[in-house]
Amino acid sequence: MLAGNKISVRALVEFAARRGDLHRQFSPSPSAASGIEGHLQVQRSRPDSYQAEVPLQMHIGDLLISGRADGYDNATQCIEEIKTLYGSAENVPDNQRSAHWAQAKMYAWMQCWRLNLPHIKVALVYFDLNEERQYRLEQVHARTELDKECQGWVLAFLRWQNLQQARQRNCQQQLTKLAFPYPQMHRGQRLMSESVYKACVTGSQLLSEAPTGMGKTLATLFAALKAKSAGQIQRIFFLTAKTTGQHAAEDSLALLKKSAQALRSVTLSAQQRACLHSEVNCRGDVCPYARGFYDKLPKVREHAARIPLLTASTLADLGQQYEICPYYLAVEMARWCEVVVADMNYYFDITALLFALQQQFEWKVGLLIDECHNLIERGRMMYSAQLQRQWMLDSSRQVKGKLQQALKRVNRQWLAQVNVEPEQNYQLVVAINDKLLAAMQDVLREYSAQLQLSPDDPSLRGIMQDVFFQLNHFITIYGWFDEDYALDWQPGVKNKGCLTLRNISPARLLAERFKHSHSAVLFSATLQPFHYYQQLLGIPEAKLQVVESPFDANQLSVFLHPRLSLRYQHRQQAIFPICQIVADQLRQTPGNAMLFVPSYGFLDDLLPILRDVIASLNVELIAQQRDMNNDQKADFLRQYSHKRNVLGLVVLGGVFSEGVDLPGEQLTGVFIASLGLPQYNPINHMMEQKLQRLFNDGYRYTYLYPGLQKVVQAAGRVIRTVNDTGYVHLLDNRFFQADIQQLLPDWWSTPKV
Ligand code: SF4
Repeated sequence: MLAGNKISVRALVEFAARRGDLHRQFSPSPSAASGIEGHLQVQRSRPDSYQAEVPLQMHIGDLLISGRADGYDNATQCIEEIKTLYGSAENVPDNQRSAHWAQAKMYAWMQCWRLNLPHIKVALVYFDLNEERQYRLEQVHARTELDKECQGWVLAFLRWQNLQQARQRNCQQQLTKLAFPYPQMHRGQRLMSESVYKACVTGSQLLSEAPTGMGKTLATLFAALKAKSAGQIQRIFFLTAKTTGQHAAEDSLALLKKSAQALRSVTLSAQQRACLHSEVNCRGDVCPYARGFYDKLPKVREHAARIPLLTASTLADLGQQYEICPYYLAVEMARWCEVVVADMNYYFDITALLFALQQQFEWKVGLLIDECHNLIERGRMMYSAQLQRQWMLDSSRQVKGKLQQALKRVNRQWLAQVNVEPEQNYQLVVAINDKLLAAMQDVLREYSAQLQLSPDDPSLRGIMQDVFFQLNHFITIYGWFDEDYALDWQPGVKNKGCLTLRNISPARLLAERFKHSHSAVLFSATLQPFHYYQQLLGIPEAKLQVVESPFDANQLSVFLHPRLSLRYQHRQQAIFPICQIVADQLRQTPGNAMLFVPSYGFLDDLLPILRDVIASLNVELIAQQRDMNNDQKADFLRQYSHKRNVLGLVVLGGVFSEGVDLPGEQLTGVFIASLGLPQYNPINHMMEQKLQRLFNDGYRYTYLYPGLQKVVQAAGRVIRTVNDTGYVHLLDNRFFQADIQQLLPDWWSTPKV
């Protein structure tokens, strides 16, 4: 926003002139194309004395304000601001309307000065795209009135800008002298920092495999901030897959800011987690933290800008102190902080906030992506879409009229398109037929029209609103449907199943986002083989780095078991031997341990037998439950930090498989049952075939590499510092195979049998 000392009229009024409540009730907005068409329709209806698209500029000090008024009528000396919408102008929320008026007045003020007018008419025209009807609101203003009001907004912005620019200059100076916060960097950290710095200054991509516990978060942030001091990047987005990664980034930033006090960072938490109200319903008439949000914002923003690290808890404190929403405050502060810590979705999702900010302000962004192996599955989820037939049926019972008819048409066309034999439980579909697609689009149109007419109609909320979002998402994704996708149908009970647009390779869509970053550093402890990650993450040209482990082979004893098979057909027979291996090890080396098993079903079968086998040992057995909430997960891990001789029975690839830091005696060893291969089912079989066609390596890309990645992550829980020692039991004789051993970390000791 501050780059080049220029600002658009729109950005200026959004900063300085918005007033009133936060109002986030969904209402459909016109697409860019229909918005442009609406503007043209209004402009074409004006007389010859009317000039459309009037470019306006004004210099105040060294700030350039620029914009384009929608129209000006020379005969009536009236400037117009046109807004397109569906439905009545009365439904425009107050805070938006105040911003619309402010925008119109800014143009009027600039036009007054340009043409030296003492007075001017200002018109705000809302154009209803459904009815093709104009609602016109008019005011007349003397230039002196506009001087007062508009100068007030400009001065508010300039005051803020001066503060920010002074702080940013200060920050740049401090960053040039930024010191590593420990007396020395160890060799791995130094090598990694050098590579990250090079990637940031040369605008390239780096894929770095660096072991857990070596301080890679600190090393990458330090190097990226150094590159920022060299002027090569303007913003750093530190993206993670888990909140533990966000906490690690906050801890590193807290250390680094000791020699860069002017540096500012903000953490964007998930809205659900940041919300201070009993439920997420962001309207001033419901939530006190939304009430008067824009009236309070200038004061709170100034306070927030003085806090170097805006973490979830500092934002929540500000939220309580000023009764203002911490989530939307964090969103606002993301514009003003040098570093933003957030989930990966905030940059890569279809409607990602950080990507939108990068586009709006054309920032040179350095991406740091922690635990980047997760981005493959995250990408698949972000770029896939699903429709449940049951939702269509339920929502069609809830609404009436044309919308109900459109939903029924979707249902009819759906059945005509997907004609499945009862015994078939999975079917690939070649394409959505035109009639079904048209019926889906009718639902979107009718819903938008009805919602604008009756925004408070409860039948249009709840499941109907969900159906609208799902259909909208589905149609967007269908626009990208190509060889990276599969379209499949699972009939479910009474043919009420779901239609899924399944992204198989997110590479192309991720690459689109990477293209807009200046540099990208992706790092993780498990990136073998590199080509798998390069191809599926859309970074084939990335430089590769393996940072040697600071750990010694003597720290970790690795055990193999030649007679134990965890192939699906042998699993039941493996239960008792596994329990014996666990009991023997715990008898020999008491301490905390985890046993990773391939599924909840296996966990349920094994639990009672394990309990019997270890009954004579002084061991507390705890087991992972399905769908544990955050408190339950924290409680589970607390057993490890507070007690000794705890044995946790958990699912491989689940919440305790990665992002869990239990150094020292908190965790002495792990037992890993199976190769972690994804289940063999029709969907994975289809994925294997697709990945075979795309990368000529279907089996490994579908099963082996994702499975071994889970194994290495789980094993990585044991050695967290150079002082730790421990053991790993690999409970499956397939670990003897050479191609599988190649995927295990180099620094591990030779396995014992
Ligand atoms: S506190 Fe919660 S409900 Fe209120 S505005 Fe914020 S996110 Fe919305």
